[in-house]
Amino acid sequence: MKKRDKNSPRRKFRPATEVVLAGRDPFQFEGFVNTPIYRGSTVLAPTVADYLGKSMRYVYGRRGTPTTDSLAEAISGLEGSAGTALTPSGLSAIATALLSVMRAGGHLLVTDSAYGPTRHFCETILKSFGVETTYFDPRIGDGIKALFKENTCAVFLESPGSLTFEMQDVPAIAKQAKARGIAVLMDNTWATPIYFRPLEHGVDISIQAGTKYLGGHADVNLGTIAANAEYFPRVKETNGSLGINPGPEDVFLSLRGLRTLAVRLERHMESGLTIAKWLSKRREVASVLHPALASHPDHKIWKRDFSGACGLFSIVLKDYPKAAVSHFVEGLELFGIGASWGGYESLAIPFDCTKLRTATKWNPGGPAVRLHIGLEDPDDLIADLEAGLKLLSAS
Ligand SMILES: *Cc1c(COP(=O)(O)O)cnc(C)c1O
Repeated sequence: MKKRDKNSPRRKFRPATEVVLAGRDPFQFEGFVNTPIYRGSTVLAPTVADYLGKSMRYVYGRRGTPTTDSLAEAISGLEGSAGTALTPSGLSAIATALLSVMRAGGHLLVTDSAYGPTRHFCETILKSFGVETTYFDPRIGDGIKALFKENTCAVFLESPGSLTFEMQDVPAIAKQAKARGIAVLMDNTWATPIYFRPLEHGVDISIQAGTKYLGGHADVNLGTIAANAEYFPRVKETNGSLGINPGPEDVFLSLRGLRTLAVRLERHMESGLTIAKWLSKRREVASVLHPALASHPDHKIWKRDFSGACGLFSIVLKDYPKAAVSHFVEGLELFGIGASWGGYESLAIPFDCTKLRTATKWNPGGPAVRLHIGLEDPDDLIADLEAGLKLLSAS
């Protein structure tokens, strides 16, 4: 990276180049390549007039530092947003974004496949403020318009659902919402802005759990809220009012993660697809829920809108008893049993959405396991899964 004239904006490049360049200005920091960690609450003003005026770039640690600006600017570049607010977790990003578009007595539409804690937020805090949430079939498409009410403020999407992998027709839903002045929010943690840029498809507010692929090493909790020019002022104001800001170390680690995001994702995608295809041929497996496979019912939408896939997908096993499924998951040597994903390590968890769903029925015909394919050698992972599947049949 070369020294740049502050007044001439940098040329835009392809995503893999952008993650290297975005949000960096080494010559602002004596030539050091990475933006340093600024720790601080107090920011001193040179004069009373500066303190009282609005002239200072930084006024208080909670309101932003060169470290947080660096990450926010990088994410805005990748998302094509007017601005980005940062929060200490993906869930706080979701909560902040929803609070910025909802009002007391308002109506909210949320995909039935949404991340569990998103629903929990709607059913507790939002409900206590008189917000009514209706869940909808993720495959509803432009049929969403039948659910709009006089007081509908927002539609919340997550595509694909991060357990069950239904794809949503984002442009079709956004078009209907836009016609009614309804805000469209999307949890885009699965694809990241490397493989899908929600704002280019009609979404107003794009949310990422940076905890997952952005951090990439299972050592950070962080959330990003990128919004278009219409919605960013509200997002920023809500975030500022709530006083929700991530710690400097986590922001630094997210910036570090960002630099290798594109190359890591490529490997997650490649290994994930290799393993998904291998699993789809196994007799123990009833189906593989991976939108990049031609066999997936929403493959066309994925192909039309997304430019890649991450390493997260699910499998539905034949009708084995619960104990056998636990035996399979516990028998895997390389797959940890744990929530979260997006780190370098492979993970496997059994799940059942039967009780979560309200608009649709979750009945895949057998027990389901979600896999995160990490950065290990895919042949080692296949050998591990092969040994695990043998345990499944043996128990
Ligand atoms: C993990 C996750 C979140 C929440 O992120 P946290 O940082 O754990 O709060 C939100 N949405 C999706 C799809 C996730 O997988």
